[in-house]
Amino acid sequence: MSISLANVRVAIVGSGPAGFFAAEALQKAAPDIAIDLIDRLPTPFGLVRGGVAPDHPKIKSVTRIFDRIASHVGFRYLGHVRVGTDVSLDELRERYHVVLLAYGADTDRLLGIPGESLPGSHAATEFVAWYNGNPDYADAHFDLAQREVAVVGIGNVAMDVARILAKPTSVLAGTDLADHALQALAQAAVHTIHLVARRGPVQAACTTPELRELGELEGVDVVVNPRDLELDAASEAQLAAMEDRNPAKNLDVLREWATRPRTGAARQVVLHFNASPVALSGTERVDGMTIVRNRLESDGRGSVRAVATDETYTLPVGVVFRSVGYKGRAIPGVPFDERNGVVPNLNGRVVEQVGSATPVPGLYVAGWIKRGPQGIIGTNKLCATDTVTQVLADVAAGALPAHRDDVSSIDALLAERQVTVTSWSDWQTLDREEQARGAAVGRPRVKITNVAEMLEIIRASRG
Ligand code: NAP
Repeated sequence: MSISLANVRVAIVGSGPAGFFAAEALQKAAPDIAIDLIDRLPTPFGLVRGGVAPDHPKIKSVTRIFDRIASHVGFRYLGHVRVGTDVSLDELRERYHVVLLAYGADTDRLLGIPGESLPGSHAATEFVAWYNGNPDYADAHFDLAQREVAVVGIGNVAMDVARILAKPTSVLAGTDLADHALQALAQAAVHTIHLVARRGPVQAACTTPELRELGELEGVDVVVNPRDLELDAASEAQLAAMEDRNPAKNLDVLREWATRPRTGAARQVVLHFNASPVALSGTERVDGMTIVRNRLESDGRGSVRAVATDETYTLPVGVVFRSVGYKGRAIPGVPFDERNGVVPNLNGRVVEQVGSATPVPGLYVAGWIKRGPQGIIGTNKLCATDTVTQVLADVAAGALPAHRDDVSSIDALLAERQVTVTSWSDWQTLDREEQARGAAVGRPRVKITNVAEMLEIIRASRG
């Protein structure tokens, strides 16, 4: 049975950029289309709230666009609903013509080295979630009484983590960094932050503005070993062949840093290139990291790989953050590609299994859970629009499954299960409360980091 777009009911799972941009693309085709945007938290925006660094408020201003999307007549926010627990994927598929998964990639990758599970060894993703006030990590503990810490990886998340550790808390107080993190960082003893990159400067995954920021921090020396900036033949060739100017600009920044004298600043960020951790030492907790120096060679496919040499050295670090990428996870009932941590799909149409070309009718995917954890916020707009193009084609072709139930029954089902579903207006209540708490102490907002407290505030405001 074919259905017109205006009558299609859509559930989007995950209220980060991919979820909102998918809603926007659908609204462009049918402004009042019925969209339920489902999130496990009463607070929306995914990594814009829980991942983007607090000292990057401009990036967060994208939420103004999301507010506009949420103001459409057919749009509802179903907050505090966990898909897979409160409601199953099948139950959603029975109630919506289109279920679009945009729940991101919230776990981390492991290094696979001895000592990795010692206390003091953490995923950077957890630290990021903690300092951004994600309720799931509000009680996490990071021993910042350590003088030396290491951040493994040299992507933009590593830049964020190093910067938050290095930045004076007097400056961080002007951001929406979670209160518990501000207090912990104010007492931190961290003096040296080692950034450990397995390949060379040409292959560094970070973008130049983020790299440059490290060298602009007040009270921080950046330390680069000039030896690391002497390019090997493989890197020279790769750089010459690259259209992307980012690596050349990163090199310029690093070369300038290499000429800077140390000032004896209160903190230092030390960059290690061609360096792979091979073990974390310690009995009760991490007390060191053994690193092997790598040499680089062409991988024969236009890129460069690291090959371990015999040279090792040790860093006396008490805390290690592995910042080697996020990873998606399955929700029950969804086909999953364990190796890549994504839902298998063809341009956003979920397929029955990895390698299959058979789509699962009415099931779509966008964002990091579709393509893996890379790209900036705007990348998700293209990605979500691409998925919605497939949705629209399937609507036009009559390829959506006929719905077997009425959409209102999602409300009945959740009520029956005593799930406290929160709305967009409830989020606006929380938003006002956080801003009011911030205003009282001269901060842009003080985040509420406890779901029970959020629900209490919501209940009180509903009267
Ligand atoms: P990423 O950009 O993929 O960087 C991951 C880093 O981990 C790379 O340096 C990678 O090195 C390294 N790595 C991976 N496996 C490793 C291993 N086994 N041992 C040692 N190092 C390893 O990931 P991310 O930093 O988590 O960022 C995710 C995405 O979010 C990126 O697209 C990023 O640009 C974006 N983001 C953007 C901003 C911003 O715009 N301000 C802020 C945060 C995040 P190799 O290159 O050698 O694999």
